[in-house]
Amino acid sequence: MKHLVTRRPGTSGSKTQQSAQGNFQVIKKILIANRGEIAVRIVRACAEMGIRSVAVYSDADRHALHVKRADEAHSIGAEPLAGYLNPRKLVNLAVETGCDALHPGYGFLSENAELADICAERGVKFIGPSAEVIRRMGDKTEARRSMIKAGVPVTPGTEGNVADIAEALTEGDRIGYPVMLKATSGGGGRGIRRCNSREELEHAFPRVISEATKAFGSAQVFLEKCIVNPKHIEAQILGDSFGNVVHLFERDCSIQRRNQKLIEIAPSPQLTPEQRAYIGDLSVRAAKAVGYENAGTVEFLLAEGEVYFMEMNTRVQVEHTITEEITGIDIVREQIRIASGLPLSVKQEDIQHRGFALQFRINAEDPKNNFLPSFGKITRYYAPGGPGVRTDTAIYTGYTIPPFYDSMCLKLVVWALTWEEAMDRGLRALDDMRLQGVKTTAAYYQEILRNPEFRSGQFNTSFVESHPELTNYSIKRKPEELALAIAAAIAAHAGL
Ligand code: ADP
Ligand code: ADP
Ligand code: MG
Repeated sequence: MKHLVTRRPGTSGSKTQQSAQGNFQVIKKILIANRGEIAVRIVRACAEMGIRSVAVYSDADRHALHVKRADEAHSIGAEPLAGYLNPRKLVNLAVETGCDALHPGYGFLSENAELADICAERGVKFIGPSAEVIRRMGDKTEARRSMIKAGVPVTPGTEGNVADIAEALTEGDRIGYPVMLKATSGGGGRGIRRCNSREELEHAFPRVISEATKAFGSAQVFLEKCIVNPKHIEAQILGDSFGNVVHLFERDCSIQRRNQKLIEIAPSPQLTPEQRAYIGDLSVRAAKAVGYENAGTVEFLLAEGEVYFMEMNTRVQVEHTITEEITGIDIVREQIRIASGLPLSVKQEDIQHRGFALQFRINAEDPKNNFLPSFGKITRYYAPGGPGVRTDTAIYTGYTIPPFYDSMCLKLVVWALTWEEAMDRGLRALDDMRLQGVKTTAAYYQEILRNPEFRSGQFNTSFVESHPELTNYSIKRKPEELALAIAAAIAAHAGL
């Protein structure tokens, strides 16, 4: 079923930039195989580049913003998830609608090699790396082996997957406790369990296997040494089809809950310029070693002066926004340019970072109730604004957040020249925002921003867990706001 016909005439892109190698292919129309804020983000890049965008939607997403914002929108079936997870259906639709490329966003099929394969088979450009690289890096043990070969330091652990509990226990003794039991094809912070002893490993083993099978369709697991209280530092890289690879510096994603990121920062306030340069170089080496093309992220753990490769994400990352803010480089635009066969628009020596950016993942969750998801209707949404404030979201007043997808409903990004100013701007912007009807993590993030340890810029992945008191905030409405609400209620009652 189709609706929302042409709004913007397609243009043919800039042929003048044709590469010498001649494998340049103008991209005129892109199918966005995703939903929500990242689909809206991709629509925005398309609009700025004169490329037509095609959105897809399930019944639950009929009224979603990405559907309204794209040039065209097509149903991919009634089911909330099946369509977004069906590579053949999505590529068929791309062909039928005359798209020359497909952007997978993050989550869903973004790291699914089969989707890249089918795209290649049907002559649709996949906006991401090759199927072979996705396969290699999507398998965390395979990725570890590639990195060891390339001379990139890797977290100590098993050479490959562990076949059974007996092997896991032997390896656990060899590595030394605590260990991390991890799903080989895991993602999104799931399928990871810290085991402090043999007993805990024995207990966790069948559970992680079952979780991995359900969530990722693979029962494979492996062991890593648990790096105690590490910092999560990741580098953004871009590679083109000419073998050029650059990094756009790092992001600090140490503020996590249950291995899931909550607040991300660029650049990390806890790195020296030497460490920054070292990590940037390592990530370029990692990407070159696997012949990486398009945008990607190399994730590391840092502890006691050591750096360990953890994994590589072969897609645009949720927190790409903060890298855009500090470098001024539009990462989605670069992705599209790379896919069309153009060289990178920037050289390493020309890439600079300025100031600090923070991203708050505003989730529809109740921090006071163990972060229980809080789906429902958004009765009022007023976006924060002012200098240095950016919001990436697909919500609007009156929108009902469906229970089938992520609980992340908004990414609030702030930028300022200094770390202190960036935090203060974050506090102010979170205060500016009005998001009513569902419980959110916004007030909790303000507590984090007021915490002296956080403000010192020195923290690690145990920060959230070691500060349970930060959920004890009280949401008080300001007197003037209360007065306004009362006046509005009276006016409504009086029919004014
Ligand atoms: P990022 O790595 O970009 O910071 P997340 O780890 O939060 O992002 O993942 C982004 C989204 O993708 C989440 O909805 C997460 O559940 C989903 N996701 C990530 N990796 C996988 C995977 N391997 N399989 C299924 N879903 C995944
Ligand atoms: P995902 O694919 O789900 O993003 P990662 O391998 O990136 O999984 O790990 C997610 C988070 O789990 C990391 O950011 C970190 O906080 C924690 N973690 C993963 N491996 C280790 C480890 N070996 N030691 C300590 N923490 C780890
Ligand atoms: Mg990760």
